[in-house]
Amino acid sequence: MIILCILMSISANFLSLKSHISENVTIVVVSKFQEKDNIMQVYDCGHRVFAENKVQEILRKKDILPPDIQWHMIGHLQRNKVKQISPFISMIHSVDSLKLLREINKQAEKDERVIDCLLQFFIASEETKFGLDMKEATQMIEDTTFSSFKHVRVCGVMGMASFEDNTNIVRNEFKELKNIFDNLKAKYFSDEASFNTISMGMTNDYNIAIEEGSTMLRIGSKIFQN
Ligand SMILES: *Cc1c(COP(=O)(O)O)cnc(C)c1O
Repeated sequence: MIILCILMSISANFLSLKSHISENVTIVVVSKFQEKDNIMQVYDCGHRVFAENKVQEILRKKDILPPDIQWHMIGHLQRNKVKQISPFISMIHSVDSLKLLREINKQAEKDERVIDCLLQFFIASEETKFGLDMKEATQMIEDTTFSSFKHVRVCGVMGMASFEDNTNIVRNEFKELKNIFDNLKAKYFSDEASFNTISMGMTNDYNIAIEEGSTMLRIGSKIFQN
């Protein structure tokens, strides 16, 4: 298997990336735009954590790929689509409202599951990126219903930096997310060991993200490029 992996470029890309990253940092392989054969090259190296940014794509790929893949949802999630992924989703990175969290909790209860979730923060300078700011997050966590949600487990934060060549801007955005995580941890989650995840870092900025405290990378193009 190892020899096969070395011969194929996607596997080689993945193994090379993995060998450079500490085992304390989880790699989430973003398989959007990729079809079965490419994804299987990474799977055959023993990797099981994959992510998509669209519900339709997770559902389609889940059906044609092995059942032991842990699927993460990393894209904007509409409330009316939660029930389609709640039976199996391993983690939802994109929680950006109390209403969405409430719906995930409701569907997870029906499925008799507890779903791991991350709060998505808006840290980039671009207008288009989804996410909470600290004020909205505080309101959400302090809402009286928040602690009654027994079928979601809030494990940390997620954010996307600006698409910027200026690494100082990117670095400062990651610093901001780490700071948000530390503040939330100290104020609300100090007793919860499972509040331990900072999902930040993609193909172009994962080295900076790791330096700034990322515990979970979401990487696609770097692995699937030729
Ligand atoms: C596509 C995507 C990624 C991966 O981006 P690459 O640059 O291909 O590594 C990470 N996070 C989110 C939310 C994405 O949509």
